[in-house]
Formats: sequence, structure tokens, C-alpha cells
Amino acid sequence: MAVHLMMYGEIRYGIDVSSAVKGLRVCLRFTSGDELVFLDMSAWTKIGYYSEDGSIGQGMQRRLAMLGHEPLDADLTPEVLRRLFAGETKTVKECLMDHKLIIGIGNAYSDEILWQAGIAPMRQAASLSPEGLHGLRSAMQTVLVEAIDKVRIGLQGQTYGEVRDFLHVHSRPKKKQCDRCGGLIERVEIKTRGSYFCPRCQK
Ligand SMILES: [Zn+2]
Repeated sequence: MAVHLMMYGEIRYGIDVSSAVKGLRVCLRFTSGDELVFLDMSAWTKIGYYSEDGSIGQGMQRRLAMLGHEPLDADLTPEVLRRLFAGETKTVKECLMDHKLIIGIGNAYSDEILWQAGIAPMRQAASLSPEGLHGLRSAMQTVLVEAIDKVRIGLQGQTYGEVRDFLHVHSRPKKKQCDRCGGLIERVEIKTRGSYFCPRCQK
């Protein structure tokens, strides 16, 4: 089974959780009595299934095969990043959010990773130096591992909700000071996505 929660999807798990929720899309009921439910008032959530022998959902398997690298996998080295970005004409922010290259990084975390790495979001991905790629790889690890911990603690066992109060740049109020250098955070649009960065310490 493969699920993309898009912007507003939620997962809940427990006994009889489907009876008191709105926006129910799918409910899986187990013999234990527990339910795994997928909710989405916007109905954007995408859910598909396939069998390992390929007899069901071949289209989905093909789409999954097109996905890029897991950002926390050890095999995503700076050298692999260099090859992924080589020949790209897109900005580094767009490349981070391109799921054919790297999966699972959205608008907020691409801003956080680039802030951590000291790289401006509008920088051309192919222009990054070996040191820049190394810093980007390291920032990916730092930001995502820390976020997983912070969100897990913040949600206190819930499988839904949003915890973002630890982010350094994304959605910061206009002209808020950078936590690192004291410069003023700016918002720019990159391919229609609101992007936040510090012009003083991100180059
Ligand atoms: Zn700064």
C-alpha cells in the first residue's frame, strides 16, 4: 500500500476511531478490532495498493520505481548529489523538492535544510561546489533527524497534527531576525512556492 497525505491528510489508529471523524477516505479494520483510518476533508490524499508479485497495481509499482533517493539513506552521498544535480537548470530548492531526485522533502523542510547548509534557495543546483554538496548532505541529515524527534515529542503519541515551532526560517514573520547571524529573514517566490531565507548567511 502506498499513501501520499498531500497537504491535509491525516492518519489515525485505534479502537473504533472511524466513527467520530470527518473526511473519512479509507478505513482498514483488523481482526484485533483496531482501525487504521485515512482522513482528508480536501480529498487530495492519494492511496493505492499493489501486490509484490506484480499481479495487482503494476502502474503504481512503476510510479514508485520512478521515485528518487531516500534523504536519510547512507547511499545518498555528496557525490550522488553531484550526479543528480549535474546538468540540472533548476534551483537547489526545486531539486530538493523534486521527488524524482529525492523523496519526501516539501516546502518547509527544503527551506530549513538550505538555511542549515548556508545555501540560498535560488542558487542553481548544478553550481554547488563539493564543499557545498557536502554541507547540503550534512544539513539534510541534521534537519530531518532533529525534526523527526521534535515532531514525535510534540505530538505525544498522536498520529496527526502539526508541530513546527522549532523551525528556523520557514514561515517566520516578515523581517524576523535570523537565529544564526541576526540578518533579516526574507520571503521570495520560487516556482510559486513561498520560500524563506537569510540573505546575509545563505549564499
Ligand atoms: Zn543569517
